[in-house]
This record gives sequence, C-alpha cells and structure tokens, in this order.
Amino acid sequence: MIEDVIIIGAGPAGLTAGIYARSRKMSTLVLDAADAGGQLISLYPDKGIHNYPGFAEVQARKLSERLVAHAESMGCRILESFRVLRIEQGDGFFIVKGEDGEHMARSVIVAIGIGLFKPRKLGVPGEEEFHGRGMDYVLPEKDRLVDKKVVMIGGGNSALEMAIIADSVTDTTLIHRRDCFRADESVVESLDRSGVKRLLETKPVSINGEDKVESVTVDCNGELIEIPADVVIINIGTTPDLEDLKEWSLELDSEGLLKVEGDMRTSRPGIFACGDVVIYPGKYRQIVTACGEAATAANSAYKFVKKPYWA
Ligand SMILES: Cc1cc2nc3c(=O)[nH]c(=O)nc-3n(C[C@H](O)[C@H](O)[C@H](O)COP(=O)(O)OP(=O)(O)OC[C@H]3O[C@@H](n4cnc5c(N)ncnc54)[C@H](O)[C@@H]3O)c2cc1C
Repeated sequence: MIEDVIIIGAGPAGLTAGIYARSRKMSTLVLDAADAGGQLISLYPDKGIHNYPGFAEVQARKLSERLVAHAESMGCRILESFRVLRIEQGDGFFIVKGEDGEHMARSVIVAIGIGLFKPRKLGVPGEEEFHGRGMDYVLPEKDRLVDKKVVMIGGGNSALEMAIIADSVTDTTLIHRRDCFRADESVVESLDRSGVKRLLETKPVSINGEDKVESVTVDCNGELIEIPADVVIINIGTTPDLEDLKEWSLELDSEGLLKVEGDMRTSRPGIFACGDVVIYPGKYRQIVTACGEAATAANSAYKFVKKPYWA
C-alpha cells in the first residue's frame, strides 16, 4: 500500500501533523523508533507543562497520552519501535526503510525532534558505576522517592521542576555550578516557594557508595563537602543524535539540523519537516511551535499529494 503521507517521529510535531493530515483524509502512517510521545514521555514524563495553551498545567505524560489518543481517534496508524534509516526514491513515491521493513508514501514529513537523544553526562566518578542503582537521568515516580534523600544536579527548567516534584514527597537538594539558574523566572519563583535546599556555585566531584548510591561529594567554593543521598539525578540537558538524518539526502545546516522554507518544505520535493529538527531564523524549540509547524507541514504535504484547485 502506498500511503498519502508517512510521518517520521511521534512526538508533538509528528502527532499534530498526523491529526492535520487525517482532517484532510490523507492515509497516514506515523513511525517512531521508540514509544509515541517524544521527549514528553522519554525525558520528562512527570514534569508539569505550564505553557501549552488551554492547560494552565498539564503533566507531560498526560499531554502525550492525549496527543496519541487524538491522533488515533482521527485514524492515524502509529507504528512504534520502527527506526527509519533511509528514504529512497520510487517512481512517484518514497520508500521509507527501517531495520525490519519498509513503507511507501507519496509524501513524507520528518518530525524526529532531536533524534535518538541521550541524556548529557556529567563525567564524574561513580556516574556509570551507580547508573540504575540510585543514579539516573530521569526522576523515578514520586512514590519511589518517599523517605529517600534526593540530590538533583542541574540549573535549567527541567532540573528545577523535577527538584520541586521530588521535594513534594521527600528531602531534596539542588546543586548547580553557577550562581543563578537558567530556568524561566516563573519556575525559579516556584522553587523559591518550595522547600528544596540549594547549593549554588557548586560542582559535583563524585558519586559514592558501596552497592548503591550513598552520597555525593561536591566542590563548594574550593571546600569538599559530602552530601548524603539515596537518589542522584543528573539533569543537565540532552545530547542530540541526528546521525540518521545525514543519510536522507536533505539539506542540513552546520549543526546537522534540517533547513526548511516557510511552508516547511525541505530541499527534497515531497519531503516536509517540523518540530525540533528544523532550523530557520528565530526558531524556538517548544511544543506549541512544533505543533504550529506541523499544521503547516501537513497542509503542504496535502497540497503536494492532492494538488487541490486552490493550491
Ligand atoms: C527536559 C525538557 C523539558 C521541556 N519542557 C518543555 C515545556 O515545559 N514546554 C514546552 O513547550 N517545551 C518543553 N520542552 C521542549 C519540547 O519537549 C520539544 O520542543 C518537543 O518535544 C519537540 O517535539 P518534536 O515532536 O519536534 O520532537 P520530539 O518530542 O523529540 O519527538 C521526536 C520523535 O522522533 C522519534 N525519532 C527520532 N529519530 C527517529 C528515527 N530515525 N526514526 C523514527 N523515529 C525517530 C523519537 O523517538 C521521538 O519520539 C522541554 C524539553 C526538555 C528536554
């Protein structure tokens, strides 16, 4: 079967593109290398989102579940655990190839976000050794933190918000190497209202323990301090992995991001793109911008495939 559109990536951008494609009754297949939901489900499922219009606050997991349910209710078929490796050219259609098969479509929308991202590592002794034994990059569910001492490392929105979540059930310390946070002012205000202890201008030196994490040693203005800890979360960002994209014969910028025109077309006719993966002057990486670009990309794919009289 040749689909009208294949969407690569089931994060907010890909799912929104699917919703818009289906509103035009295009046959739509959404492929994702991991689980549908994108960064919301894989990087910050328990974090509150405060800037998605219509929701004063919504948990990332809930928003991603709603996006998936909405896309499916519109008739999108979502195939998880399908990592796209190549996009080959057929006669009037594309062949989207993965490790375990291929799918065909008259148009493609690339919505792979920051790719197969990995959490950024701190590079201190104990980080690898205790990974999964008290040390992690994602905050465990709140119930599993009760009566544990949590140390959060980082100074961005995510680190602060996860520290606030942890603090609602247990003793939590936030460590940041600078003298102020880079998080949004509204998030810093929430931190001020919480009971999270802070150590600024403080660098983690090592994560220590026997079988599991027992403490973190930090350098606080030249003085080494040992902080007791049962759970250490390193939350200092993610490293994008956009290697797959290099094989898709699309024009990229020097950072490996995908260049697009105003209608979200790429350098390859019939292939469109949206979300964190695209770059243009003033690009702002947020859910709402990803969704906006997705609506445009889906509309452009519709015009390309169906060639309506008004296009
Ligand atoms: C910690 C953190 C907190 C954030 N908080 C907020 C917030 O509060 N508000 C806000 O608006 N934004 C927030 N963001 C930003 C927001 O998450 C992103 O802008 C948004 O997820 C971009 O959506 P996307 O669909 O473009 O990409 P993603 O969410 O990254 O989804 C891309 C999908 O593509 C899949 N994929 C990648 N490569 C392939 C491949 N080769 N084949 C198939 N599938 C592939 C991935 O598995 C993934 O599911 C936050 C980001 C982070 C890291």
